[in-house]
Order: sequence, then structure tokens, then C-alpha cells
Amino acid sequence: MMKLQIPSPIVRLKSEFLNQYGIELWLKRDDLIHDKISGNKWRKLELNILKAKQKNRPILTFGGAYSNHILATAVACEQAGIQSIGMIRGEELDKKELNPTLEDARSAGMELHFISREEYTRKSEESYIKGLEEEFGQVQLVPEGGANYYGVMGCTKILSEVDNEFDVVCCSGGTGTTATGMLLKLREEQKLELYPALKGGDFITENVEHLLKYSLFENDLVAETKQSLSVVADYHFGGYGKANQELVEFVNSFYETYAIPLDLVYTGKMLFGLFDRISKKVYPKGTRIIAIHTGGVQGNRGMAERFGFELEF
Ligand SMILES: *Cc1c(COP(=O)(O)O)cnc(C)c1O
Repeated sequence: MMKLQIPSPIVRLKSEFLNQYGIELWLKRDDLIHDKISGNKWRKLELNILKAKQKNRPILTFGGAYSNHILATAVACEQAGIQSIGMIRGEELDKKELNPTLEDARSAGMELHFISREEYTRKSEESYIKGLEEEFGQVQLVPEGGANYYGVMGCTKILSEVDNEFDVVCCSGGTGTTATGMLLKLREEQKLELYPALKGGDFITENVEHLLKYSLFENDLVAETKQSLSVVADYHFGGYGKANQELVEFVNSFYETYAIPLDLVYTGKMLFGLFDRISKKVYPKGTRIIAIHTGGVQGNRGMAERFGFELEF
């Protein structure tokens, strides 16, 4: 049925730079799981789709106009043979042509509905959801970014596929769902560094705590698990979906050195931050790091279109 590369490959990155600082760096290539159901979006969707299939309901979800999650949901639902409905935030309302992300989602059979930014902010309100069910019938509701319990459980599988010994795992974060799933799999001496793609780390810390509560039920377990988390909040480049020439150059030179494409919204920022910290000797020699490539390279089309960046891949 679905053609997915699972378990995703793990590759060792080798360079002069990493040698110089004595860092062993591995990259878990979740970006290779599928070209459109990218990376962690598949992890978060897997169990949601299973539920939707069991109940024979369409999936209804939310996202922005360039959302990796929207496209992943559309294609994953198509492959699973279930209907998908996407509630899309604002701005495309008046445009005649869809951007490439939404065009792909629509060709995969997703029913697109454009809602105003105002309406979009109500997406988690009970009364709003009731209204949606009156309009669309019974649906399997998946929150923006796949940030629910099933999403967390799906993300526990990422580190289950890793046999390497490591000290630190690094990942980018939007909602913190992926990070939460991985936290549940860490051993006591291992740490997780979470690099938010949004401004301000507080929101994501609270979100991780909230998701941990759902998954662990006991407060002292939540507190204990949270100790393995550190949020590295300084590499958001001005906020969600923002980027600059320095980041573009990093992503291009990363491609030249390792032949691996990165997205500008998430993994590019995380690896920029990680490399910056390596060069500042944050990690002792001999540290073994595994970074997660959560995918999202499709989103570069939108970034290039909006900002005129030139990427070499
Ligand atoms: C959505 C997304 C993230 C954020 O994942 P969360 O689980 O919401 O923290 C990270 N990387 C990529 C490429 C994404 O598309």
C-alpha cells in the first residue's frame, strides 16, 4: 500500500569541521521517508490515520498555506484510501492560483477550505469544532501540525529505530510533539536539545509539558522526563517562516559538504544552531550527537518564491 522508507536511514556526517571539534555526528534521515509525506509528519499521522480508517471517517485538519502537515495529510490519506479535508488559514483566499504546496494537496484529493485568520484562531474551541461537525459530519479531527496524543506516540518510533550509542539528540520544533515522543524514549544520561523554529522558547516548553502530561499521567514522571529537555531558543532567525542570507548560505554549504538538502524553516535552523554551538565548544570532545532531519524540503519552494532565495538544490 504505502511506499514509505521505514526505518529511515541513519548516516554519519564526516567533515574537517567535525573532526576539529571531536564531534561524532549522525543524521537520522526522516526526510527520506517519503517525498511528500515528509519526515515527522508521517510519524505524527500514522496512528491518526489508523484511527480514521477504523472508524471510516475522513480526516479534517488545519494548516497554513505552505504547511508541510497539510500536504503530508493529503497524500497520506490518499494512499490510505480515506478522505481528507484541509482548513487553510487566510491569505490565499483572494488568489486565483494555488501555491505549489496547496496545488499538490489538492491533486492528492484534499478538499480545501479557506478560512479567515480570525476564524482560524478558533480552531481548538469546542463550539467551533461542533460547528465543523455539523458542516462535515463525523470526522477524525487532527490538530494543526498533528499535535495530539497519537502524534506523540507515533514520534516515539523515531528513536526506537536508532541502535547507535549517543549522548545528545537534536531536533527542530514547532509544536514540540516530535520532541515529546523522543523524550519518552531517552535513557537517563541522554539529553534532548530542542531548537524552536518560532520566536520565544516558552510556548514550546509549555506545550511539551502539556503533551507529556497526556502521555504519562503522573506528575512526578512528567517532571523527571522533562529534565532531559533543553530548549535552545536563539536560532529562530526572526520567527516562524523567516530566514536570511546567512541561513541560505549555511544550507547551501551544508549541501556542498554532505550532499543533503535542508529546509529553511526547521532543520536548516536547527543544524545552523548545532554547528554554531559546536564551534563555540559547547560540547566536550568525543560527544556523540544524533540530529533528526524532520523533512520539510518541499517548503523551500514557497520560501524561494516569497523571498527570492537561491538554493543550490
Ligand atoms: C512540522 C515540522 C517540525 C515541527 O515538529 P513539531 O512536532 O510540531 O515540533 C519540524 N520539522 C519539520 C520539517 C516540520 O515540517
